[in-house]
Amino acid sequence: MKVRERRRCDTGRTAPATNRSLTKGKMATLQITLPDGATREVPSGTTAAEIAQQISPRLAKEALVARADGELIDLSRPLDHNVKLSILTAKDPDAVQVLRHSAAHLLAAAVLELYPDVKLGVGPPIETGFFYEFLRDQPFTQEDLEKIEAKMREIAAKDVPNQRKLIPKPEALDLYRKTQQEFKCELVEEKAVEPMVSFYTTGKFIDFCRGPHIPSTGRIKAFKLMNVAGAYWKGHEGNPQMQRIYAACFVDQKELDEYLHKLEEAKRRDHRKLGAELDLFSIQDEAGPGLIFWHPKGAIIRRQMEDWLRENLLARGYDLVFTPHIMDLNLWKTSGHANFYRENMFGPIEVEKAEYQLKPMNCPGHILIFKSRLRSYRELPIRLAELGTVYRYERSGVLHGLLRVRGFTQDDAHIFCMPEQIEKEIQDCVEFAWEVLRVFGFSDYVVELSGGDPAHPEIYAGTPEDWKRAEDALTSTLDRMKVPYKYIPGEAAFYGPKIDVKLVDAIGRPWQLSTVQFDFNLPRRFKLEYVGEDGNRHQPLMVHRALWGSVERFFGVLIEHYAGAFPVWLAPVQASVLPVSGKFEEYARKVTQRLKDAGLRVHLDERNEKLQAKIRDAQLEKIPYMLILGGKEAEAGTVSVRHRFKGDLGPRPLEQFVADLQQEIAARAIDQPSVESSSEKAPAATKSK
Ligand SMILES: [Zn+2]
Ligand SMILES: [Zn+2]
Repeated sequence: MKVRERRRCDTGRTAPATNRSLTKGKMATLQITLPDGATREVPSGTTAAEIAQQISPRLAKEALVARADGELIDLSRPLDHNVKLSILTAKDPDAVQVLRHSAAHLLAAAVLELYPDVKLGVGPPIETGFFYEFLRDQPFTQEDLEKIEAKMREIAAKDVPNQRKLIPKPEALDLYRKTQQEFKCELVEEKAVEPMVSFYTTGKFIDFCRGPHIPSTGRIKAFKLMNVAGAYWKGHEGNPQMQRIYAACFVDQKELDEYLHKLEEAKRRDHRKLGAELDLFSIQDEAGPGLIFWHPKGAIIRRQMEDWLRENLLARGYDLVFTPHIMDLNLWKTSGHANFYRENMFGPIEVEKAEYQLKPMNCPGHILIFKSRLRSYRELPIRLAELGTVYRYERSGVLHGLLRVRGFTQDDAHIFCMPEQIEKEIQDCVEFAWEVLRVFGFSDYVVELSGGDPAHPEIYAGTPEDWKRAEDALTSTLDRMKVPYKYIPGEAAFYGPKIDVKLVDAIGRPWQLSTVQFDFNLPRRFKLEYVGEDGNRHQPLMVHRALWGSVERFFGVLIEHYAGAFPVWLAPVQASVLPVSGKFEEYARKVTQRLKDAGLRVHLDERNEKLQAKIRDAQLEKIPYMLILGGKEAEAGTVSVRHRFKGDLGPRPLEQFVADLQQEIAARAIDQPSVESSSEKAPAATKSK
């Protein structure tokens, strides 16, 4: 399971409050402001749970945690000053994280009960659940996980309260020393800075923890222990190796089921698995990791993709170029890559006492073409595009199928223009990115605009005025295009602000692909100039942009998005010809030849197999159309058409089918089932002809 930690473990931060809430003697009156602005007077010491009860018994029942002046607190925490209070239910994402954190405690409680000798590490919530880490000599097995999960359900069903407890620090250390929980001792030593330390108990289980927690274990119902992964204590190599038990955890069973289904779906769509099954590409140990071999069927798809791209680049006023794969290392010194990018580059190659560098980027090559002669303002903008193959050193541990590789081809372009041209160029780039999304069948996307950090102008190339102008150009372009976006200050590259487009695939996963980046750095380093209308020399603006990111990565995303069932214009085989028996071979050959002559990619299944088997195999290969040919068809000059998703479409004259298919290809039509129905079903019985 791949999970991203949303926040580090909050186990063991010092308790921000002490017993100050226990006001002695006459109760003071507090003013509580609720989210709708209404206020309530309550005696000091009243808890959020009691206030929830006053508002409505239903809210009290659904409440998980409270937010007081922005801080999450236990429902049972007595209030001791005037606050803005919200009672949070499972509808609030922060409350769900608290539920997950409480579930992590439940996991630790169950593990300790079953394996009293384990040593506890940390146990934070994560994006889709939680983990807890343990030190134990034997690895946890699948059977162990089942036992632990059953124990968790047992404790959960008892609805054991989660109670906060403040313990003086020396006592806390003592407690952990006595139970030989040395990692916990370490945490208390490091994190507890106040005299009283916050703990939480769940029955017999006690944990150093800042909290808050949900009131009791009864609400933890929808969870599943997923897997065990090794992790060094505190993430430092050389530290003891902990076993992390990861779990999925949601508010209700429906959400959990949806998540598990999505995981299954992601597994089914894994491009590495489909790449081998459909014979699209491979990575060969003999050649080295992270290097992609495009097999004939994958190569057909790549050619369709590239043909579309080149056609559209030309239509949009780009010039196509080619640049060398290795260039003099000095060029990479000028560009700064030899310094700033060194760790991502393959080492230099020595030839005739000069050093050459395998290119990690295409920019310097395009810059040399721009610089090859003096440019006039009349030529601008100059848009140089290349399907440029680059090589980057990625550690073998991070390589991942087509998504993270060492050699790949960027759909790269560099635009050199004058300041007054920049907005139009940015808009064209964004529109081009939209066109990519549309043509390749994506409807959802997320746009992010990464700006500089105004507090640290010194770390960026270019003047603050340059940056302001560039960011203004990006924001006003997006605003004018009415594109919703998220502005992220401080996330820009040092050389300029950028727009990133993440597309969202068929099962809701975002993928970072298109990027449009300003660059104040390279034009200056390479002393780029053009002769302006005023006869003086000026420095052009430079934009780097890629739409797919790389052909390899985009191909990986396409495989997963379509689950290998590419739209007909991309499909390696567009139609499979299936004669019902050897008797109709001659007609089948005639049909196949006709389709080939029409420029269609067709496969004739001449095997001596039953029709059902031929259909099944064509379905497994995700071929869009199957043409079933028997006596009736041969006599009438028709084909019986079967579609991979729609099933039987009935007989059609051969010429009609050819024309229909050509039209579908020309339109680059997308024929996809909805995600729910996309899972492979055995093909329904086809009437024999
Ligand atoms: Zn905790
Ligand atoms: Zn570039």
